[in-house]
Amino acid sequence: MGRNYRAHARELGNEPPAEPLLFWKPPSSLLRPGGTVELPPTDVSARVDQEAEIALVIGRRARHVAPADALAHVFGVTLAFDITARDLQKKNDQWTRAKGMDGFCPVGPLVVAGLDPQSLTFSCPVRGATRQQGDARDMIFSPAELVAYASRFFTLEPGDLLLTGTPEGVAPLEPGDDLELECGQIGVLRAS
Ligand code: ZN
Repeated sequence: MGRNYRAHARELGNEPPAEPLLFWKPPSSLLRPGGTVELPPTDVSARVDQEAEIALVIGRRARHVAPADALAHVFGVTLAFDITARDLQKKNDQWTRAKGMDGFCPVGPLVVAGLDPQSLTFSCPVRGATRQQGDARDMIFSPAELVAYASRFFTLEPGDLLLTGTPEGVAPLEPGDDLELECGQIGVLRAS
């Protein structure tokens, strides 16, 4: 989901969306915890940003579900980076290329069941400084609204991941950066 936190939409000069903004990351973008994000050559992209996000793991097939029933279709919650080639995102109306490259979706380390996804806070330090600090209560569209909305267009299958958007503080990565995404109830997702 794009632009699901007001302050992040505004930091890139965008208005918060009137309805959820869906995009797609292919399975080949998944990266195991501790994996290395391969930055594209600079003639392909000169700016690759981290986006720290809470991710929902679907547990039961969801099609046309109501918001009140949506979280019953979620198995658990995990952490993910929506790695984004920002310059390619600006070049293309749709974001598949900018956000869908191999390894652009580090995810993990655990899937935790029984959590209220909107109760979570998380932080992302890079080079020793906290870049992003998220509070899921600041989402424009709640996790239940996101699942219900997406299920109107695509059948969500067990194992599907929904990334719920990033708070403000996105910034370029440099070769050799270590990424961490910390959430007390889930653990620490590391990538490099
Ligand atoms: Zn994102």
